[in-house]
Amino acid sequence: MKKIEWVTPNKMLIDTGHKTFDRQTNYIDTGNVIANTQHSGYIRAFQQTGHAGLTYGPGELQAFDLDGFRDIPAHVKKYVREQAHARSVILYRFFHHNSKRTITHGWVVTTDNYTLLRSVITGPTDKSRYVIQEVTQYIADCPHRPERVYAWHAADGTLCAACCDCGQVLAGAAPALEEK
Ligand SMILES: [Zn+2]
Repeated sequence: MKKIEWVTPNKMLIDTGHKTFDRQTNYIDTGNVIANTQHSGYIRAFQQTGHAGLTYGPGELQAFDLDGFRDIPAHVKKYVREQAHARSVILYRFFHHNSKRTITHGWVVTTDNYTLLRSVITGPTDKSRYVIQEVTQYIADCPHRPERVYAWHAADGTLCAACCDCGQVLAGAAPALEEK
């Protein structure tokens, strides 16, 4: 996981290539966070029914946690529910504000001990990919699952490989960042 460097006591150093996102980002952290460009929290397991000495129905506590993320896309919600049946996960949304509204770049799901499960880019431009790839490094450890690693040959024949989940180049040269 990447460690934060502080520019001032209230502002971390970040370079995603998205100027407005970088300017607005004050900090990024794991777990329950409400920051300038991050909203995240634990999603309890479907099977968890106990809270503060009370008993709830299966899925009730999870639904309560998910309600905190009102604009979550249906496919991300479905994925979270699949992953958070017997265990809790952490759900992250990254965004910036313009004068009129909030622009969401994407969503990241990790286990509750910060292993990356999936990142989903939902933003309007290519820059959202760079935002999500960069911020993911501060909140998750990526196992580079083999099925999520893609390989290609560079112009000079060098075999290159990179991870679709975290964006890290694992072999060869840095690619022109394009869709596989
Ligand atoms: Zn990876």
